Amino acid sequence: MSEFSLELTEDQLQVQKWVHDFAETVVRPAAAEWDEREETPWPVIQEAAKVGLYSLDFVANAFSDPSGILLPIVMEEMCWGDAGISLAVFGTTLGVVGIFGNGTPEQVGEWVPQCFGTAEDPKMAAFAVSEADAGSDVSSLRTRAVYDEAKDEWVLNGTKTWITNGGIADVHVVVASVDPDLGSRGQASFVIGPNTPGLSQGQKFSKLGIRASHTAEVVLEDCRIPGSQLLGGKEKLDERLARVREGKKARTQAAMATFEASRPAVAAMAVGIGRAAYEYALEYAKERKQFGRAIIENQAIAFKLADMCTQVDVARLLTWRAGWMSKAGKSFDHAEGSMSKLYAGEMVTRVTEEAVQILGGAGYVKDHPVERWYRDSKIFTIFEGTSEIQRLVIARAISGVHIK
Ligand SMILES: Cc1cc2nc3c(=O)[nH]c(=O)nc-3n(C[C@H](O)[C@H](O)[C@H](O)COP(=O)(O)OP(=O)(O)OC[C@H]3O[C@@H](n4cnc5c(N)ncnc54)[C@H](O)[C@@H]3O)c2cc1C
Repeated sequence: MSEFSLELTEDQLQVQKWVHDFAETVVRPAAAEWDEREETPWPVIQEAAKVGLYSLDFVANAFSDPSGILLPIVMEEMCWGDAGISLAVFGTTLGVVGIFGNGTPEQVGEWVPQCFGTAEDPKMAAFAVSEADAGSDVSSLRTRAVYDEAKDEWVLNGTKTWITNGGIADVHVVVASVDPDLGSRGQASFVIGPNTPGLSQGQKFSKLGIRASHTAEVVLEDCRIPGSQLLGGKEKLDERLARVREGKKARTQAAMATFEASRPAVAAMAVGIGRAAYEYALEYAKERKQFGRAIIENQAIAFKLADMCTQVDVARLLTWRAGWMSKAGKSFDHAEGSMSKLYAGEMVTRVTEEAVQILGGAGYVKDHPVERWYRDSKIFTIFEGTSEIQRLVIARAISGVHIK
């Protein structure tokens, strides 16, 4: 085992600087426009694809970093530029993780490259779980997948809601129920390719924040897909369902490990916005004069900044720890992945609110980006598991009690 160190390697520093430069020169200057337009920022995605930042190679490289912290570093830098644009660029990875987590090696090889496309012609993916009556409670999904044995096809019906890249993605990974009596253990994941009849976009949502990221319903009406697009394959599904019907234990630990592993990346996005807001407020507090002195000379303002700086660092350390644990194959006995998401999500709402407060009236208007960061921050206590659900997961992990 190597010596303990929080020093980044040369490679990590290089990637960090490269992503930061892209965030500073391409992402941040475009942020206000795409927030206002509330549309997918295709020119930025194309630019990211052109330089190789939006590509299978880059994301695979970030995922495979042996320390487990390169992906959080990338997400933090991008979101320091803008969270809405970052989600538009990296929302695809949600679908990719769905394919990696459930697909066979052949399915991964066939579909993951299609999620990214090429530098000249970038594509997108989406991961569709949530429904109007199944948000935190994913066991109550109503979307059904029925097997048509004669044609070796699956037929999907249902409506997914609040889906990032929903309806505009080239590849949709959809979670549906194959046996509603079994709740979440009777669900399976399907991959649906471009221009598949029966899949369409429903309502597109107008949002409080991260408005450059497209969020919409995905409507499935007799959507037929080949049997080979059931992730993991039919044989494995049949075996799993048979085990569950016999009352044997499902592999909850495996599912838990997947969630715990993906949460640090979302936590890192929150760290990026929090850091941006803290830095901006610090500079403003040094410049702005009232009562004949810089406002930072007032303890009331300086202490806010001290708290903001501390909280951003705490969130990053929790995030890096969870990323490292996941890579090192440690078991998340205290739900450390959830801890990072919970803390970072709540940190960024507090820190951006304080940034608005430090800027006063200037913080409340669109002339300064803190107004947008304040709006963008709120999603981090909601998606990828609300703060309440993270607390539930942590409380169950530390107590062993099935707390409701
Ligand atoms: C911008 C955006 C993008 C999204 N992207 C995606 C996506 O790409 N794919 C996808 O599948 N989904 C996506 N979602 C959906 C998101 O994951 C859900 O909104 C989230 O899981 C919460 O579900 P809900 O909105 O139905 O809230 P609900 O589950 O209805 O919760 C409402 C409130 O009740 C609380 N609550 C619920 N159950 C409990 C409990 N047992 N104990 C204590 N409190 C509880 C919640 O914490 C929350 O405060 C997205 C949502 C948004 C807003």
